[in-house]
Amino acid sequence: MTLSTAELEQAPAEPPSLTTALSRGTAQAPSAHDAASFSRTQNTASGFVLSARSDAFRRRFYPEVSQKTWSDWHWQYANRITSLGVLGTMLGLSEEEAGAGTGLAALPLAVTPYYAAQFDPHNPAHPLRRTMVPTVEEWSLNPGESADPLGEDSHSPVPGLVHRYPDRVLFLATDSCSAYCRYCTRSRRVGKPCAGSASRRRWPAAIEYIENHPEVRDVLISGGDPLTMTDSALNHLLSQLRRIPHVEFIRIGTKAPIVMPQRITPALVRMLRRYHPLFMSIHCTHPDELTPEASQALNRLADGGIPLGSQTVLLKGINDNVPTMTALMQGLLKNRVRPYYLYHCDPVQGSAHFRTPIYKGVEIIRGMRGFTTGYAVPTYVVDAPGGGGKIPLMPDYVQGYDGEELVMRNYEGGLYRSYDPAVPLAAHNVHNAGPAGCADGDMPCL
Ligand code: SF4
Repeated sequence: MTLSTAELEQAPAEPPSLTTALSRGTAQAPSAHDAASFSRTQNTASGFVLSARSDAFRRRFYPEVSQKTWSDWHWQYANRITSLGVLGTMLGLSEEEAGAGTGLAALPLAVTPYYAAQFDPHNPAHPLRRTMVPTVEEWSLNPGESADPLGEDSHSPVPGLVHRYPDRVLFLATDSCSAYCRYCTRSRRVGKPCAGSASRRRWPAAIEYIENHPEVRDVLISGGDPLTMTDSALNHLLSQLRRIPHVEFIRIGTKAPIVMPQRITPALVRMLRRYHPLFMSIHCTHPDELTPEASQALNRLADGGIPLGSQTVLLKGINDNVPTMTALMQGLLKNRVRPYYLYHCDPVQGSAHFRTPIYKGVEIIRGMRGFTTGYAVPTYVVDAPGGGGKIPLMPDYVQGYDGEELVMRNYEGGLYRSYDPAVPLAAHNVHNAGPAGCADGDMPCL
C-alpha cells in the first residue's frame, strides 16, 4: 500500500511497535519523497528540530521511541540499521539490493534511522538510497579499480596517518562512520569490528610524528567519521594537536551533520570552538540531504564560528547533472557551507556503477560557472591514482593568443579578446592558436 503525504500526516500516533509490525508484515514506510515532507517541522523536547517526514517514519517503525530519544545522537548511532533483513521490511528491496546480502564483508551496511527516513521506499533509484544500500554491482572488480586507489597506505609513515602533501597530514582518527557510503574510498578499512578501539591505539604514534615534523602546519582529522567519537575523545585529540606549536590549522572531515545531524549538540559546538582556527569539511551528495535537521546542524556549527566547506563526490545517476549539482551547491550556501571540492569518484573496487566519465564533471562545472554565483561553484578534482594528489580540472576558457591579444570564451560561449602584449615567448608559442583559427571564431581549445 502506498501512503500519500497527506495520509502520513494523519498516521496514527501509536501504531504497533516495530517488532510487532514487522512480524505481522504490516509495517509501512513513508511514501513519495517530496519537498513538502521536508518543510513541516516541529521542535522536540531536546531543542532539535524534527521534520514531518522523519517523525512519520519514527511513528511507523519506532513508535516506542519518543521524539526526544529519536533526536539523541547516541540513540541514532546505537540503533543504526545494519541488516538487509530489517531494511527490507522498511523499503521493499529490489533484486539487486536483496542480492547484495550474500556477503557484506568488504564494507558493512549501516544507516541511521534518521537517514533511512529520507529514502524513497518505493524507488531503488532514489539518490540517497543508492548511496547507502548495497547492490550486487559492488561485487565486481572493474578495470582500473583497486582497494587503495589513492595509494594512501604507501604514503603512511605511521599507522593511521597519511603524509602526501608538503605541509599537511591526514589523521585517520577512527575507522567508524554513522553510515557507510557504498562508494567510500576507504572501504578497505572502515567499519571493521573494533574499528573504534583499534584506531585509538594509533593516536600516540601519529601525534608524535606530527610533533617531529615542523613542516606540518595543517592537520585534517578524518577517518571514518571523527564525529562518531564522543565529545571527550575528540576533545582529547584536539587538545593534543593544539599543543603542537607548528600546527596552525585543524580541519575535521565529516558526514555526521548530513546522516546524523543530531550529533551537532550545543555541547559539541562549545567544545569545538575552543580549538579555533578549526574548519570543517562536510561530505554531502544531493540536495535531498539538506533537510530541516541537517540545516539546523549546519547552522549550529556556523554559529559556533566554524568555517564550513563541502566535499561532494560526483556520482552517476545521483548528482551528475547541472540542475541537481546547482541545487545542492546553492542549498549548501544557504546553510552557510561554502562549496569546496567536487571529486571524481575514486576507482575503489566495486564502484564502477557510481563512476561517470571524467568529462562529465567538467561539463557540470561549465554549466554552473557564470550561471550562478561563483561562491556556489566547487573545484572539480581527480585524485590521481597511486598518490599523485588532487588534480583540478577546468573547462577551457582560454582559446589562445592571436598576436598580442588573448582570446577567451565566456560562459555563454562568446569569444572575447584582451590586449595582453607582455607574453613570455614560451607561453606565446604554447598558446598561439594562429590567425586562421581566430578568423572564423573557431579556435582550437588548449
Ligand atoms: S562517511 Fe566518509 S569515511 Fe565514512 S563511509 Fe562515507 S565516505 Fe567513507
